[in-house]
This record gives sequence, C-alpha cells and structure tokens, in this order.
Amino acid sequence: MIIFGTRVRQKTIGEGEFYCPHCQSMCGYEHKSARQFFTLYFIPVIPIKQLGEFIMCENCGGTFKAEARFLRSSPAASGQQNRTEDLAALLNSVKAKLEKGVSIDYLVRDLTSAGLNYDMARQTVENAAGEGRRVCEACGLTYTATASTCTECGGRLQ
Ligand SMILES: [Zn+2]
Ligand SMILES: [Zn+2]
Repeated sequence: MIIFGTRVRQKTIGEGEFYCPHCQSMCGYEHKSARQFFTLYFIPVIPIKQLGEFIMCENCGGTFKAEARFLRSSPAASGQQNRTEDLAALLNSVKAKLEKGVSIDYLVRDLTSAGLNYDMARQTVENAAGEGRRVCEACGLTYTATASTCTECGGRLQ
C-alpha cells in the first residue's frame, strides 16, 4: 500500500527582539512560518501551501501575528495544490496500472513529472510492483512478474 497525506511543518525563518504584549517588555522572538507538505510514507516531499507566518515570544511562548514587514509573498499556492492532487491520483492508481501491465519505467516517469523526486518515485513503484520482474528485450522496459506483453511494442516479455 502506498501511504500518502499531508503534514504541517513549522520552520524558523528569523529572530530578533520585539515588545511582547503579553510580557509587557522587550523579549526575544522567533519568526516562524507554517507550511503544509504533501507526504509520502510520512516524509514531506512537496510543499503545498503557505499557511501563514507568526512570531513566537521566547519568554512566554505566546504567538503573535507577524508584522507586515515580515510577510513575504507566497508562491502560487493554487498551482501547487493541483499538482499534488494529480500526484495523489497517480499514487492511488499505481497498483491498478501495474496490474493492467503498464511498465514500471512509465509509472516512475509519470510520478517524477508530477513532482516527485526520482529515487522516491522509483522506490514507490518498485515496492508496489512486489517480487519478480520481466523485461522487454526490444524496448528495455521493466514490468511486473505477471505482465506478459510489452505495452510499448507488443513484444513478449522475457
Ligand atoms: Zn512574551
Ligand atoms: Zn517492448
């Protein structure tokens, strides 16, 4: 089974001093940014969207809205969102496609073009493909043990 989902990650992007309304004194702060990531096997692989930025008082731990001067424009979040939806749909269909006889190499290519890095894509498809491999001598494409003909050239698999 291919396990994927999303996770929020916080990152410290700066620090300094500010007047904390809670402590009512000058305190150190950490400027943090929260981002939602697309995860594969619980590993964040692609940032999906910027959830916001805030500053945290190092003295009381209170969080406050970052001032406008801290805010940076977020990348095109909607495009990223669509891309990860495509990736999720692809991951959901890997097993079915392998059973239909689609080559391992093609599935890896689909996943990498949807934004996954090559190693992660290769590992995911190899895991889903299980044991045993068959290869098309003409094209060099790799298939699962249950595939019998090459979807590219129609040749018999070795
Ligand atoms: Zn404080
Ligand atoms: Zn072939």
